[in-house]
Amino acid sequence: MRIDLHTHSRVSDGTEAPSELVRSAVAAGLDVVALTDHDNTAGWTEAAAAAQDLGVALVRGIEISTRYRGSGVHLLAYLPDPSDAGLAAELARIVDGREDRVPAMLDRLRRLGIAGATEEALAEITVDAAATGRPHVADLLVRLGAVRDRDEAFAKYLADGRPAYVDRYAAELTRMIGVVTAAGGVSVVAHPWGRGSARVLDEAAFAALVEAGLFGIEVDHLDHDVAQRRRLRAIAGRLGLAVTGSSDYHGTGKVDHHLGVETTAPDQLERILARAAELGSPTELVGAA
Ligand code: AMP
Ligand code: ZN
Ligand code: FE
Ligand code: FE
Repeated sequence: MRIDLHTHSRVSDGTEAPSELVRSAVAAGLDVVALTDHDNTAGWTEAAAAAQDLGVALVRGIEISTRYRGSGVHLLAYLPDPSDAGLAAELARIVDGREDRVPAMLDRLRRLGIAGATEEALAEITVDAAATGRPHVADLLVRLGAVRDRDEAFAKYLADGRPAYVDRYAAELTRMIGVVTAAGGVSVVAHPWGRGSARVLDEAAFAALVEAGLFGIEVDHLDHDVAQRRRLRAIAGRLGLAVTGSSDYHGTGKVDHHLGVETTAPDQLERILARAAELGSPTELVGAA
């Protein structure tokens, strides 16, 4: 049983359509795949249809941009009701914040001498995206010949502290966990000790987040080394949190993050599904055998 609980399609900053991603999941030998695009659910319907056709189980998810004590934290929400008004309003606000910063980023790039960094040029790259992100701007810089790949675009221009970086709105993490729970979703912190959030997410912070309704931690992720995984697993054990593993696949947009490169144990997925059922969400996975 191979389970990958964190992937992105072109609906955010991945490079495959949702149906192509599901096809790739089958080719990679996965039994269960979660589609977790950034801050939106626009890919769910297409992914579900493909999962049904191809006989792979789909977990509908979202990777939500949040902030905790000043640092960015990504929150995975599994099986929430997308029509829940509270959740929909929060996601709309985040997506609006993403759109608002785009002209400012492009303006900075033009001032840095990259004349082709226009909204028209970016629009060609984001046709399928319900949420625009820095990786799309990176792809534009690649297309314009300003950098070789996304990594160089972040290193030169787009990472926090680089000249074209522009901040944006993110929901407060503790409050967002409450919003997700109210929508029947199960909250798992994504790559907690990857870039950015490591400083703020210590054991005391996780304990407070458990009080707010946090259910799990994504431990097995390429951003974490062996020692970090051991410590995160110990924290999860002490706090009774579920442990997940996933690829954070972005198609060709993120090197090494192949589908199934990290996986989640079946008993941990069972815990997540049981929690979703407790919260009143339908947990029969589309395409499940
Ligand atoms: P955004 O959500 O638009 O702020 O962009 C954040 C996304 O860009 C993350 O989800 C990562 O996939 C990617 N990213 C962030 N920092 C880097 C980096 N230094 N190098 C490559 N990709 C990055
Ligand atoms: Zn991403
Ligand atoms: Fe993330
Ligand atoms: Fe991700």
